[in-house]
Amino acid sequence: MIRLGLMGGTFNPPHNGHLHAAACAREDLQLDRVLFIPTNQPPHKRLPEGSATTAQRCEMVRLLTQGLPWAELSTLEITRGGASYTIDTLRQLAAPDRRLFLILGADMLLSFDTVWRDPSGICKLCTLTAYARNRDEQQLLEEKKRILEQKFGADIRTMARPPLPVSSTELRNGGDLDRLVPPAVAAYIRTHHLYDRKITEER
Ligand code: ATP
Ligand code: MG
Repeated sequence: MIRLGLMGGTFNPPHNGHLHAAACAREDLQLDRVLFIPTNQPPHKRLPEGSATTAQRCEMVRLLTQGLPWAELSTLEITRGGASYTIDTLRQLAAPDRRLFLILGADMLLSFDTVWRDPSGICKLCTLTAYARNRDEQQLLEEKKRILEQKFGADIRTMARPPLPVSSTELRNGGDLDRLVPPAVAAYIRTHHLYDRKITEER
């Protein structure tokens, strides 16, 4: 049985927080591999003006994961096209010899039952693995875990790990590249002059 972690996101750009969550999940749950899956069109947010292109988001994920034998880019949501729903991705990846673990930041688990398409279906296909993004979220995460277990019979793992409180938004708004992303991704962003301007966020 292969234990496969899935980390979806817009990755605009991918950063050390994504890597941290994936590495924690790999250790905590003995995952064999983690797929980083950039969304084609995120269903619940619009990419702000001045964002990286889809090809650039993919290339940055490739650079983020290069040299890590357990981590790799998957372009399956891009290839599928249209709005990217996790339930569709899970159905595509489900197989008898695989156990799927969806890796999420706390913000995603907190909005899981109100915002996501077919949360009940998702819970039948995978284990949800959630990490706090800042120090105040651990308690909220535990409460949400209990609610989702009751509501959907979900299998949820929340591990108390020291969070790495960084975000793509912070980087797009001028945050320090060398602190937020690995050197290969920083070099790519500089070479291609990505995120040079401050960008107004839209939902
Ligand atoms: P943005 O600021 O544009 O929303 P982001 O930093 O939240 O970007 P996403 O691509 O939206 O990154 O997130 C993809 C997944 O990674 C989500 O499940 C999100 O919760 C998780 N994630 C992002 N940053 C962290 C972090 N620092 N620690 C743990 N999980 C994170
Ligand atoms: Mg986000």
